[in-house]
Amino acid sequence: PQPAEPLPIRRLQESLINRIAAGEIIHRPASALKELIENSLDAHATSIRITIKDGGMKLLQIQDNGCGIRKSDLPILAERFTTSKLSTFTDLSHIRTYGFRGEALASISHVAHLSVVTKTKLETCAWKACYSEGILVEPKPGQNADPKPCAGNDGTTITIEDLFYNTPTRLSALRSASEEYSRILDVITKYAIHNSKVAFVCKKAGSPSPDLSSPSASETSNTIRLLYGHSVAKELVLVKVSSKDQSTEDTDMDVDETTDDPESWNAEAYISNANYQAKKMVFLLFINHRLVESSRMKRAFEAVYNGILPKGSSPFIYLSLEIDPRSVDVNVHPTKREVHFLNEDSIVEKISDAFQKALTVQSHSRVFEYQT
Ligand code: ADP
Ligand code: MG
Repeated sequence: PQPAEPLPIRRLQESLINRIAAGEIIHRPASALKELIENSLDAHATSIRITIKDGGMKLLQIQDNGCGIRKSDLPILAERFTTSKLSTFTDLSHIRTYGFRGEALASISHVAHLSVVTKTKLETCAWKACYSEGILVEPKPGQNADPKPCAGNDGTTITIEDLFYNTPTRLSALRSASEEYSRILDVITKYAIHNSKVAFVCKKAGSPSPDLSSPSASETSNTIRLLYGHSVAKELVLVKVSSKDQSTEDTDMDVDETTDDPESWNAEAYISNANYQAKKMVFLLFINHRLVESSRMKRAFEAVYNGILPKGSSPFIYLSLEIDPRSVDVNVHPTKREVHFLNEDSIVEKISDAFQKALTVQSHSRVFEYQT
């Protein structure tokens, strides 16, 4: 058959371009929430309270007691590439905060109704601002778009309503409200464990009791016990390993912050021993404090446990890995869940060896205990 006449190429409308781009960054309620949690942590919050309606599709609200946002910054808050975390290009390689490209709030404002109530310590009242498509909009018809004074505590409350109301394809790709809610709880659980000093609370709107609650100023092992249960917590082994360790010796040595070695790294993990057998592997991986995934690491650790656990059972692993920011490509898209970094193979091998050793030592000492 004759090829059809080509249709003319046209430029998409700006608002449509922005909406599509935003959908690439914000996939679902849980991915929006992850960005907001990271913002609250960047703002040094010690308390993060989350309220959810309809799996986050109707309402997703996060209240923190962090540093707040200056009133004068509110007009550009939801513009793309506006950030307080990065100012020069060289900063890019030393970035220590989660977000750095000022895309999260902007993206959210293109695919949902976004409003912010915030108060810094210096301000005498809080300020409320509403956003759509990157800019301030009037909260109610007839009002102007300027931020409005209101009552509020120090910190920031971000409210997202009707996520994906204008992107029906995204909306239809979502699962049921209960499934989206369990993804939300999963993200919060993991951040709560990695940030055991910070109190996290999550509840459904209108519900009197929270579905998840972690105390402030806790210890990692305690938060694991609270959120994953005593049966895991009592079988955990703490493993510390770093680039400084010559062998796989388990030492307390931390990476010396003063040396300027871009290949230095430092890992701390809580891993379950042979007494704990789960159906599915629980793997919490934080690299430079960001929740990520690595199928390579997952496979390597599965191999370690293959020799330890009966077939068909899996471990619990929480691993926090800090590597020099120069070894991670920060320009990799922030929502790209799989991460890659310099010397990945040797780092994964060293951590696996440390796990292996810790698990073996542990089972030997157990036998020894029984003999005495
Ligand atoms: P990024 O985190 O990459 O800077 P975001 O769009 O996530 O971009 O946020 C933009 C800016 O808004 C941040 O740089 C920060 O200054 C401010 N901000 C966002 N959320 C909070 C919060 N919870 N507390 C204080 N400031 C915040
Ligand atoms: Mg951010």
